[in-house]
Amino acid sequence: MSFSSLVRSSSSLSSSSSPAHPLAPYGWDEGWEAAFAPYAEQGLLPGRVLRVDRGQCDLITPIGTVRADTEFVVPRDPLKVVCTGDWAAVDPDGDPRYVRTLLPRRTAFARSTSSKRSEGQILAANVDHAIITVSLAVELDLGRVERFLALAWESGAQPLVVLSKADLVPDPVGLSYLVEDVETVAPGVQVIPVSSATGEGLDVLRALVSGGTSVLLGASGAGKSTLANTLLGEDVMTVQAARDVDGKGRHTTTTRNLLVLPEGGVLIDTPGLRGVGLWDAETGVGQVFSEIEALAEECRFHDCAHEAEPGCAVTAAVDDGTLSVRRLESYRKLLRENQRIVAKTDARVRAEMLKDWKRKGAEGRAAMEAKRGTGHRNAPR
Ligand code: ZN
Repeated sequence: MSFSSLVRSSSSLSSSSSPAHPLAPYGWDEGWEAAFAPYAEQGLLPGRVLRVDRGQCDLITPIGTVRADTEFVVPRDPLKVVCTGDWAAVDPDGDPRYVRTLLPRRTAFARSTSSKRSEGQILAANVDHAIITVSLAVELDLGRVERFLALAWESGAQPLVVLSKADLVPDPVGLSYLVEDVETVAPGVQVIPVSSATGEGLDVLRALVSGGTSVLLGASGAGKSTLANTLLGEDVMTVQAARDVDGKGRHTTTTRNLLVLPEGGVLIDTPGLRGVGLWDAETGVGQVFSEIEALAEECRFHDCAHEAEPGCAVTAAVDDGTLSVRRLESYRKLLRENQRIVAKTDARVRAEMLKDWKRKGAEGRAAMEAKRGTGHRNAPR
């Protein structure tokens, strides 16, 4: 397929004078263009990874879908292992083609591991929205919501909570209470009741995910698959499979883990993300429980454990009812769990991850606190 026909086929987003970049529907923007500039000079192709398997990956590039070897990307560096959602520079020549380098990731979902084997730690890269799916068909488990929120914040993506199967709560007052309950444990996070059966909330959700790359998180049975199908539409999946053409003009029908949504935006759905459970998410935990961390700043002792210390602002908030015991217990539990995982995780991998993402987490938290006006009271105004 020629470059110009690709431009035409993907130009629905552009009505301006300059044609849209063929990769624009996949999230290509000025930032990626700038990051890729040195590789463009070397004659390499930009591409986004659609799926990875056995040392090879499929990428969408301006000349169509390309299959490439990933072996040349610094072997055995777990952070340089190609994963779905990565932007890469691909050598257009050669048989096989290969991925020359990865562009620096903006965000990444990483799995902590208790083993020494450090491959496959990155589950998805360059995700903007983490959609945490919670089913209203079963009793709300706020601790579980907090756990997924921590994972989402840690990745650098902006979480949002979708309460699925909202049609099962026909009473609007009851539904608003459930939304409030979740909002209480999710500071800085939008909570949207959604029903694939009645269509409730889908417009709001589609608008939110239309700009950027999203992933679906949540326990099994939370309705992730239904939601994915609702967002994608069955027809779209068939069309995308049929439209795939590899670099040599062959039609391919492989399963992709990265899909373009019909109303804009990209959805990543990888098996690894679906089963994600453990993580190293100290920053994420801090953001989920930002009101507790803000209270802790007011404690008399810097190293206050919020147990029985005098002048503890956290236990004072529990005593006067502004902070629930359940929430404080959940905070402690996630911190303990996180410390256990951290102790087991390869130190060098963690150091690299922290370097890149701690800064992002801190910036996000500062922005959130500034927006809500809940920054530390001694912070400069
Ligand atoms: Zn305290």
